[in-house]
Amino acid sequence: MDAQQTTAAAAAAAALTPKALIHQKYGTKACYRIEEVQQSVDSTCPGLVTPQQSRCLYRCYLSLPEFTTTSDTFPKKKDAEQSAAKMAIEKLGIQSTSKNLTPQEAWDELATRLSVLFSEEFLSSSHPLVGHFRVSLGRIGDHFGMIPVSAIVSCDVKVNNLCKVINPNSDGDPLLVSSYIRKAAKMSDSVCSTDEGFLIRKSGSYSPNILQKLMNHALCTRCSVQIEAIHIPFRDEAQIDIVTLDFSDDQYYMDEISQKLRSRDTSQILVSRTLGKASSEMKLYFSAPEIPAAPSDCVDVFSKAEQNDHLEPVLNKRASYLSGQRIYGDAILANVGYTRKSSDLFYEDVSYCTYYRMLLSKVPDGHYKLFREAILAAELPAVFTARSNWKGPLPRDLLCTFCRQHWLSEPIFSVKMVDPSESSCKLLEACKSSKLLRLSEEIKKTNGGIGVTIDGDLGKSSTFTCEVKLLSRKQVLILDSLSDATYKKESDAIQNAALKVLTWLKKYFSQLDMSIEKLSSFGLADNIVIYSANFSKEFATLLSICGPEQNYPMRRCGASGSNFLDQPHIKEKGTSLLKIEGPDSGVFPSHGSLTCISYVVTLIRKEEPLKEVIERNDEFEFEVGSGAVINQLEVSATQLSVNQSAQFTIELPSRDLILAAAAESSKRLSHLSLNNCFLEYSIKVLRVTEPLEDRMEQALFSPPLSKQRVEFAVRHINASHSTTLVDFGCGSGSLLDSLFEHSTTLEKIAGVDISCKSLTRAAKLIHSKLSMKSVMEPNIRSAVLYDGSIMDFDSRLYGFGIGTCLEVIEHMEEDQACLFGNVVLSSFCPELLIVSTPNYEYNPILQRSSLPNKEDDPEDKSGPCKFRNHDHKFEWTRQQFEQWSVDLAGRHNYSVEFSGVGGSGDVEPGFASQIAVFRRRSLQLEKKSSTDEEPSHPYKVIWEWNKGS
Ligand code: SAH
Ligand code: MG
Repeated sequence: MDAQQTTAAAAAAAALTPKALIHQKYGTKACYRIEEVQQSVDSTCPGLVTPQQSRCLYRCYLSLPEFTTTSDTFPKKKDAEQSAAKMAIEKLGIQSTSKNLTPQEAWDELATRLSVLFSEEFLSSSHPLVGHFRVSLGRIGDHFGMIPVSAIVSCDVKVNNLCKVINPNSDGDPLLVSSYIRKAAKMSDSVCSTDEGFLIRKSGSYSPNILQKLMNHALCTRCSVQIEAIHIPFRDEAQIDIVTLDFSDDQYYMDEISQKLRSRDTSQILVSRTLGKASSEMKLYFSAPEIPAAPSDCVDVFSKAEQNDHLEPVLNKRASYLSGQRIYGDAILANVGYTRKSSDLFYEDVSYCTYYRMLLSKVPDGHYKLFREAILAAELPAVFTARSNWKGPLPRDLLCTFCRQHWLSEPIFSVKMVDPSESSCKLLEACKSSKLLRLSEEIKKTNGGIGVTIDGDLGKSSTFTCEVKLLSRKQVLILDSLSDATYKKESDAIQNAALKVLTWLKKYFSQLDMSIEKLSSFGLADNIVIYSANFSKEFATLLSICGPEQNYPMRRCGASGSNFLDQPHIKEKGTSLLKIEGPDSGVFPSHGSLTCISYVVTLIRKEEPLKEVIERNDEFEFEVGSGAVINQLEVSATQLSVNQSAQFTIELPSRDLILAAAAESSKRLSHLSLNNCFLEYSIKVLRVTEPLEDRMEQALFSPPLSKQRVEFAVRHINASHSTTLVDFGCGSGSLLDSLFEHSTTLEKIAGVDISCKSLTRAAKLIHSKLSMKSVMEPNIRSAVLYDGSIMDFDSRLYGFGIGTCLEVIEHMEEDQACLFGNVVLSSFCPELLIVSTPNYEYNPILQRSSLPNKEDDPEDKSGPCKFRNHDHKFEWTRQQFEQWSVDLAGRHNYSVEFSGVGGSGDVEPGFASQIAVFRRRSLQLEKKSSTDEEPSHPYKVIWEWNKGS
């Protein structure tokens, strides 16, 4: 029905899918890339994702010459593509039907649109505005057929878009939009507007038919309806309170709101855009400020008002902050309105809690806390260690949400690839100069509690960096986060870059009183360029509402994660655990582990008997050491062993935060003084998932041990001039993959593993490496991945130059490890075999450094050392490993040398990871005679690549 209204071009555009539109504009220059996203089963919202539901989702990256967009995740690839295209279109502004209109044309369109809205065809549609007509046409007297401009503003997207063309600032100013509509009504012959107030009616009369039709609908009688809404006084010091809106007897809801606002009548009511969920009808209502009757030229009412100081309307800071629009005087936040879905009024209560949660969702870490349903326990983690450890929405999504919350454009992530040859040179140097000193430093740092070495990532084959730009709605650059950190995976680069920006924003939000001058140096300290003037413009309302004296949700102790234990008062608090209960099970939440706790937070007043549970979680999992919970909680949890419980208390955080957490009791609490109150946390450690071995290796060694093992292998490959290599137990292909980044003599490489999951990952890793042409190591001509057990001999791998078996034997039973040793040296017969395995004697160092709160006490012999990984069947001392190796070498005419990585071989307790290098003594391999045996091929080729094919 509305289609006749839109211009032909817009109609054509509307018929095209976003992808088609992008194609029209960019053709092959638009490049879509789909990424598979494993939907994690570890969802922190228990019940949200059940294991059966867990499945693969897709995310699409669309690269255009100017920028890149990234879609959300979708079950279908094509939806992800369309979504990315849609975002690009929005960014380009080509979607707006009024894109090519001049302001004058927009005025005309606006007038035409109004006549359409008052046409009889329109009144037969299901447009939400029709609900307002129904009420209005049912009235008698002066107000018959009078439609409030605010009803049009809140129901019709097109008029809003047209106003934006007339003046882009109208986006943030309901008063301006309303004035434009009133003026357009004056221009139109078919409608007219009142001189005072914001009401519009049709110039002519309606046909009895249409009146009859609408009235029939209205006959459906509604019983009395009362809803709760939030009253937000314009004076900052006045508390918000609840108002009850009573729509009994078919009271027009706008009338009721205008009464509650003590406005003259509905004609004075203005309305904000929709807040919160797009599907809601949550809007702010306020009275039009007293301004001289609409000026005839009607350019910009607000700037007029600014010229007359005494007439300047009073901005409602809190309401403006919530809506990102100019809201004047007292405001009411209500969730009510007509929708397309039904001709009945839609309504819902707005509770205190909703209001405070809306406030909270605007701070950089607010959405994370809300999502985790742990407002008083969770913190935005300071580091992104691994996707599986990150609970809640990923940093990239959080940053997008933050930008949406503040009416900014979608952030732009630009991923760049760093030349790996360059970076690995740098790394080698770093690796040479570091070693012991570096290690002890790292361990000290880790002892401090929270020192996951972020630069540990440098140790991996670093390939991706990511820059993040934040832009205003009007595409003005406000923040540019340059990236120095590099990551092996593109997605890690993006997540870490997003987290860096969020972390900075969080820091900024705790110091909102900062001067514009200071802003840029505040950003530069974190390698973030702030365009101060533009930046503060975007956050202007924020500044005025969240100043230091405002009781605004923010962290209590300022500093995030990194060295909180240095703050003496925290340390003191951390140790004041009360009522520790339960036997010491010996299993502690260690650094890097995933720890699951239950907790209850109770609000307690010292003198009066006030005890109110305000937050509880029966299962709450977090990564120890990443700053994912409030400091005191982490300090306390790490002092308990599994099954132990305890209590601690903290000072009250901000009132708003308490009320956001308090759900049902927030209404009652909001009337109480919270003086002399404190919070008591009762926690219980339910279980601890030990840190993954490689996580530990990454956190404690720089470069990470895995990287050091690769370097070790590369040295031996080149020294021996081998051209063939087989990696026994290749896992996810970390070695094979890195071989493409090193200049070696290798031409043919193969990997064997029994885990199909790991092999798939390996294939993906190598495959993506191969698709980057510049990265290709020219010598390697073929690569194969086999599914099979390394206890079985496969003749295709006979007589290879080098065999590697890194951190594998400890995953088998000891007798199987012996069997493997025999098979490999007697049947596969590589010239060189490199076997690595953990050094059990090194474990105390690892474990000491992973218990943040245990002092380095030599007397402390708390229990036997456990293995580094749940999957390890054994871990050997140096002596045990040497015994195994020497026996094996002797049996098969090999020599053996011992070495290792991590730490030093000369200092007790030796290397962290011990390595044996076996060398075949007989240089000539006796050709296996053809009569000897049939070629045996028990391995299954999983993935294969040959150069040139
Ligand atoms: N070498 C890799 C992976 C080490 S984890 C790295 O350094 O990163 C140990 C690997 O050994 C696992 O992937 C496991 O699936 C594999 N593995 C264990 N027993 C095996 C067997 N009998 N045959 C083949 N692979 C085995
Ligand atoms: Mg292992």
